[in-house]
Amino acid sequence: MPFEKLRPEVMDEGAGARVRRLFPAPGRPWRDPFVLFDEFFVPPGGGFPDHPHRGFEAITYVLDGAMHHRDNLGNDGVVGPGGVQRFTAGSGIVHSEMPAGKEVAHGVQLWVNLKKSDKNVGATYQQVVPDHIPDSKIDGCRVRTVVGPGSPVQVNTPMLYLDVELAPGSNHGAQLPDDHRGVVYVISGEVRVAETGVRAGEALAVGPGVVEVTTGPGGRYLLVTGKPSGEPVLMRGPYVD
Ligand code: MN
Repeated sequence: MPFEKLRPEVMDEGAGARVRRLFPAPGRPWRDPFVLFDEFFVPPGGGFPDHPHRGFEAITYVLDGAMHHRDNLGNDGVVGPGGVQRFTAGSGIVHSEMPAGKEVAHGVQLWVNLKKSDKNVGATYQQVVPDHIPDSKIDGCRVRTVVGPGSPVQVNTPMLYLDVELAPGSNHGAQLPDDHRGVVYVISGEVRVAETGVRAGEALAVGPGVVEVTTGPGGRYLLVTGKPSGEPVLMRGPYVD
């Protein structure tokens, strides 16, 4: 079965930040249970000063540099490469997300919808340092479990989030639960999913079933899947109702 290839739109966001937005985009409003997927690049001096959110939860996975999260609950923390910041906006949160240090902060922010019955849960924040993300190496393949078995990152929606680095010529397969759908998003290099080549900054819609990814000269990708809620989504800027 051919996979649908997705290409992000490059957009300016916040103050001086640049994002590759995989969705939402024209004709591609969201991919249940995920409502937004951004690869972000935030130079020092830029960022996202205080702003509100509600109705979803977000996972920020830092690839390079560092991000500084501060919110109206009193949380204040910085994570570097391989670390995770997760906030559940629920009924409402106000936070800022700014780069820390002198490097461009580079990472991925994923918004996960909350089911109608969870829209009004209290806001929470969780920070996970890189050492606490499960990390395994098998046959030239490094797999970090950002969300999934062994990861302390907690979200309300059943989902899997892997960061996979493939050595040249190696491969990695994942069996997705029957009710999971999502994306393979390539961070660097080039990989193949079935017969489809996917380069850095491109993605494929995947699932359910087995996802087998192979590489030529080497590549790194994120496999992000989850269980759709099937509920309608109304996105209004920072709010998901
Ligand atoms: Mn935000």
